[in-house]
Amino acid sequence: MTNLAIAGIRGRMGQAVAQLARERDDVRVVAGIGREALSGDAAESLGCPAVVPLARAAEAVAAADVLVDFTSAAGTRELLEAAGATLRGRALVTGTTGLDDATEAALAALSGEVAVLSAANFSVGVNVLLELVARIAGALGEASYDAEIVEAHHGAKADAPSGTALALGQAVARGRGRSLEALRRDGRSGQTGERAAGEIGFHAVRGGRVVGEHRVLFLGARETVEVRHEALDRALFADGALRAAVWLHGRAPGRYGMKDALGL
Ligand code: NAD
Repeated sequence: MTNLAIAGIRGRMGQAVAQLARERDDVRVVAGIGREALSGDAAESLGCPAVVPLARAAEAVAAADVLVDFTSAAGTRELLEAAGATLRGRALVTGTTGLDDATEAALAALSGEVAVLSAANFSVGVNVLLELVARIAGALGEASYDAEIVEAHHGAKADAPSGTALALGQAVARGRGRSLEALRRDGRSGQTGERAAGEIGFHAVRGGRVVGEHRVLFLGARETVEVRHEALDRALFADGALRAAVWLHGRAPGRYGMKDALGL
């Protein structure tokens, strides 16, 4: 049995994880972390005995084997401050995207003492595509094929481009033996001039209830190669996050990705 604390339990992903956990007998949600404390029926309706505010996250983490985080860039930062020490001997699965450099550095430092699995996307399909996209990018080469990434999400999404789009961009850069930082180009507007050689363009569409769509385009002179993924239901990510949590429970401290949990 893997006991879970879920940070962001009232959010879209937090609710999806808690709901799916109820349908499994190998995981149990023992505590929630949110903006405000909840108990009794209010907490039970979210699928856990109690919800504590983020400043008291350590209490929730102390009751759990694995902390599952789907909050926000600020939420993850505060969570690490509030519960980092309590996570020792436990594990952290985080799917929050758009983290700043300081929070990324804090996660890296934490992984010296805690098993940490982070993924911009918990779907099996996207993680298989990350491997394929690197291979395609390497085989096509940047001289003959321009890479552009187009993603679409619901209008409430906080960050752009999506963490998955950036992971796909990193896969393109890795396949070409380059680093994304030097090649990233977010959108285009105005007198943009000619496309710079090798750049990787990102374009974010926002609106409606789109769960998540990603397209990677390799545009050559005589052909276009397109790789596309569409998430149809948030339960896809929740299922992957639970899979990751069960896999991570009891692992040695270190930094892991979905690739490890899926054995890719
Ligand atoms: P959401 O806004 O619906 O939910 C976030 C929840 O966290 C909310 O209940 C909010 O109140 C809480 N929260 C945020 N900041 C907080 C803070 N500082 N203190 C206390 N509570 C805080 O968002 P969502 O759609 O559930 O997505 C959450 C995160 O997960 C985003 O970063 C999103 O990009 C990411 N995401 C990742 C995957 C994946 O597969 N890795 C899939 C979907 C979403």
